[in-house]
Amino acid sequence: MTPEFFINLPKVELHAHINGSISENTMAALVEQKGGVDPSWRLAFKNGESDTLESVFKMFKLIHKVTDTVEAVYKVTYDVIHEFAAENVKYLELRTTPRSEPSTGMTKLSYVESVIRAIQDCSKESLDIIVRLILAIDRRHPVSVAMETVNLAAEYREKTDGLVVGIDFSGDPNAGDGAEFIPVFEEGRRQGLKLALHLAEVPAPEETWKILQVTPDRIGHGTCLQPDTGGSKQLEDFVTRHRIPLELCLTSNIVGKTVEGYDNHHFQYWYDLGHPCVICTDDKGVFSTTLSREYSIAAETFSLSDKQMWDLSYRSIDFIFSDEHVKHMLRKKWTDSKDRLSVK
Ligand SMILES: [Zn+2]
Repeated sequence: MTPEFFINLPKVELHAHINGSISENTMAALVEQKGGVDPSWRLAFKNGESDTLESVFKMFKLIHKVTDTVEAVYKVTYDVIHEFAAENVKYLELRTTPRSEPSTGMTKLSYVESVIRAIQDCSKESLDIIVRLILAIDRRHPVSVAMETVNLAAEYREKTDGLVVGIDFSGDPNAGDGAEFIPVFEEGRRQGLKLALHLAEVPAPEETWKILQVTPDRIGHGTCLQPDTGGSKQLEDFVTRHRIPLELCLTSNIVGKTVEGYDNHHFQYWYDLGHPCVICTDDKGVFSTTLSREYSIAAETFSLSDKQMWDLSYRSIDFIFSDEHVKHMLRKKWTDSKDRLSVK
């Protein structure tokens, strides 16, 4: 399989944080507008997998700095959608934490509206990609803020005719007790939102067990669910019994140092179990990757064939937060791609 195979393979991206997905080009444009930024920021984009956690944090800080206006937020969202579309991502769920920036007059409302406007504008172009939005809860913030995010998501789900599809739970996995947010997840579900929760990124079996009881619709990472990575048989059994799909981000976990090397990635474990696995990028900008590259790494590391890679991508359609009509449309695109890709 050539790099072109992975680019031409139609793909679904379900775990992409908007700001972390920023490309070098977009970053360059925003840095120039802003002025006064240390030019060494470019190096971080080149380092890729050999990058250090420290430079990743530095990068997030810098992205935060240059995305402090609604115009910048619009541009990042708009560009990220175009970049995913260019590598044949046909369905994309973006996620982001609503943010206010008093110094520029940006409010959480205008932030969310800017993201939505970028998505809507892209949908009017001739891009072959469907985009949905997930609003993220940062676990470092209070539960009351999380509840506001759920209400915001529900409100914009109504206003945009279903463009907002769910709630994410993320942020420093070592911060606070995630179980405190359970009422928030339950409220989200009550309001018809799907739950895509970062879970077990680090060993935290008690917290993970409590949160699992809300039966998330998808789990982000799930690195430490199985017994040999600091989870337990009980956690693994729950996840397999409910067939909760895992969003797996290989390079992100290597750079983030929660997994030692590609060979050790828990993809293998869950894939061998026949459990629903979706390959995702997490933060393609910060981790210098693309979804095509992540597919290529998975194929090479775990010795998967072109048919297995096509199947992996095709099965991801089952786990999107959209209705059967959209799934049907996507499945047709995938089936049509088989001949072109010479997949038997
Ligand atoms: Zn993530």
